[in-house]
Amino acid sequence: MNTIPRLHFAHLPTPIEELPRLSDLLAGPRILVKRDDQTGLAFGGNKTRKLEFLVAEAIEQGAKTLISGGALQSNHCRQTAAAAAKYGLDCVLVLNGEMSDKPSANLLLDQLFGAEVIAIPDRKERDRMLQETFDKAVTDGRKPYLVPYGGSSPTGALGYAFAMEELMEQMRTPSFLKTRSSELGGLVDWIVFGTSSGGTHAGLVLGQRVFGFKGKVLGISIDESEEWLKSHVSKLASEASERLGERIEFESAEVSANADYCKAGYGVLTEAEREAVNLFAKYEGLLLDPVYTGRAAAGMIDLIRKGFFKKDETILFWHTGGQPALFAEKYANKI
Ligand SMILES: *Cc1c(COP(=O)(O)O)cnc(C)c1O
Repeated sequence: MNTIPRLHFAHLPTPIEELPRLSDLLAGPRILVKRDDQTGLAFGGNKTRKLEFLVAEAIEQGAKTLISGGALQSNHCRQTAAAAAKYGLDCVLVLNGEMSDKPSANLLLDQLFGAEVIAIPDRKERDRMLQETFDKAVTDGRKPYLVPYGGSSPTGALGYAFAMEELMEQMRTPSFLKTRSSELGGLVDWIVFGTSSGGTHAGLVLGQRVFGFKGKVLGISIDESEEWLKSHVSKLASEASERLGERIEFESAEVSANADYCKAGYGVLTEAEREAVNLFAKYEGLLLDPVYTGRAAAGMIDLIRKGFFKKDETILFWHTGGQPALFAEKYANKI
């Protein structure tokens, strides 16, 4: 395990806090939050943990340029651009979406970190443009390393396998927990979080097995079908396990994903996300983002209202970051 290349720039362990006012309001189970919006790199978020492994691999392979892609307001691309800047690498980003003449939020930050942005209107063109950009960088001698969408390769997923180890360690030492009662009490029965490209999900599922987490890991889909997530996440977790020394075969049936809350489509703000962002802000002083954590929390809130969780259970909502998007032109006045 010690031989896996890894850089250490994330602020770890991230704190765990309790959300008692939200719990009371919903008359539901105990809710904890794991603050991966505080991972430290350029406003933080879940991609930082993956990038510790991805950038280490890139540097080990002699790469000079990180290339990645995503939506115009991609958190992953913002954090990739920041990591590139930190390690003196070039960064090229292929982003799909409608470019405005006033770049805002994540896109503004990409540029601040010195990334070259190639904007394309049509998402369908993204794979092709990313490949072309990569091939051109090879030809130009820029030694590119392709950071996959969302950082979700087996290497990136390792970030969340070790995040699970971190959580287990925190559960053993309750003084880490900054709660009202300053003790953890019961164990965590559920981990709930937003899942999209599957790397976070795969890492948590792998970490659950390797480090013996007894609760359940439930991903709320941001934009993918349940079927795709189960098959993709189990495959990714199996591949990532090889890097820990021995392949573990994960079945899709072992992966829990709920795709009931993503029907509006990626990045489309509905009343449900708006309510979740508002409740977290007004009851806990905690910021969610409009695309990922807003949707994941909306799913969690709906499941609590439906009585899906038992009242004496503890849910740990894994906050994956993304708040800069609150300031994107697209969302700023709609939250
Ligand atoms: C990327 C992202 C996710 C989804 O993580 P995946 O590993 O791609 O499934 C969740 N929340 C935020 C804020 C993100 O930026």
